Amino acid sequence: MRLDYLSIFPDYLAPLQLSLPGKAVASGLLDLHVHDLRQWTHDRHHTTDDTPYGGGAGMVMKPEPFGEAFEALEVGAGDTVVFTTPSGQPFDQRVAEDLATRSRLVFACGRYEGIDQRVIDHARSIAEVREISLGDYVLNGGEVAALAITEAVVRLLPGFMGNAESLVEESHAEGGLLEYPVYTKPRVWRDREVPDVLLSGDHGRIAAWRHDQAVRRTAERRPDLLHPSALDDGTPIVRAGRGDAEELLTLQRACWVQEALANDLLDIPALHEGLDEVRDWIGTWETYLVRRAGRLVGAVRARLDGEVWEIGRLMVAPDLQGQGLGRALLDHVQAVAPAGATSYALVTGGRSERNLRLYKKAGFRLRRDLAAPVGAVTLTKAR
Ligand code: SAM
Repeated sequence: MRLDYLSIFPDYLAPLQLSLPGKAVASGLLDLHVHDLRQWTHDRHHTTDDTPYGGGAGMVMKPEPFGEAFEALEVGAGDTVVFTTPSGQPFDQRVAEDLATRSRLVFACGRYEGIDQRVIDHARSIAEVREISLGDYVLNGGEVAALAITEAVVRLLPGFMGNAESLVEESHAEGGLLEYPVYTKPRVWRDREVPDVLLSGDHGRIAAWRHDQAVRRTAERRPDLLHPSALDDGTPIVRAGRGDAEELLTLQRACWVQEALANDLLDIPALHEGLDEVRDWIGTWETYLVRRAGRLVGAVRARLDGEVWEIGRLMVAPDLQGQGLGRALLDHVQAVAPAGATSYALVTGGRSERNLRLYKKAGFRLRRDLAAPVGAVTLTKAR
């Protein structure tokens, strides 16, 4: 992955050469370039800011140095320009996973009152643009945010971490739970003992204990991560990550073979998707899933299209259908619709009797007046 940083304080980014990113640069995994934005100024004082049009306090970063920098660095199609800004998308593990799939990230670090809006609009016309916030607070500049985003992203690159499993098990990883408590030697420290189960050597019991601890901790500290719905037995419905793609693909194939047979249609696109396509849509659709005893048994995805919360890929493992899992996922995905959604829409096979029953029971209405792929029908419901 190639990483470029545009900043008027390039020294701020010196830590990039330390620790793990430094090693990754040495090994060739990362190609890292920090640029002083002032090299693309032409006045004696290397000015990068000016007063805001319309008045107001503070200064605004001028567009010209950024424009010249993009040209000099040949930023273009296939590149992603990241503007760090408190008004951007909140940064989280899902965004990190998404950015980790890009081949080049160019970080534009703001200062003062921010960057002239035309720089962002221009960048969007030549490359992909992401506006990302580190959190709901205001920093002095974008460099710290760029460092944090870099660290979270590069540790997800294949080959970066010595032990890839540690990525799967940590907080905010695939299950969306916080991590369970961890212990190391000695067994007893200041009269405090390591929990017995961890010394038992029974991997099944250890995994179950850790899962239980992770759910408890998440419920206590970050109940927002558990989402409003869980199955009746308390099994959480969690956000999917790209690491779930392989299992989702297996579930999808099983479910869509059923759909294809029920509708006598072999060209359903979901039936023919590969791993890369599933990975891609996990990044762009909000995807939720349910595991039972570690096995992925149900999933659903949704995304906002204007004011419509578009729901799709509701899947339940064939051996568990008819037990309410599909309805629980459908209720959940409606409950998490963003504030801007005024209706729900979904598409299903015109002859998928079981699905049609489920959707109608959940309040969806058949809409023959709306477009649907061949052999399918659209259903909608007001929020
Ligand atoms: N006037 C801006 C506003 O209210 O949105 C804040 C400007 S801030 C003082 C200067 C720069 O710091 C921003 O352009 C941005 O690059 C960076 N910055 C500040 N807070 C940030 C945050 N929470 N996440 C990401 N970048 C941030």
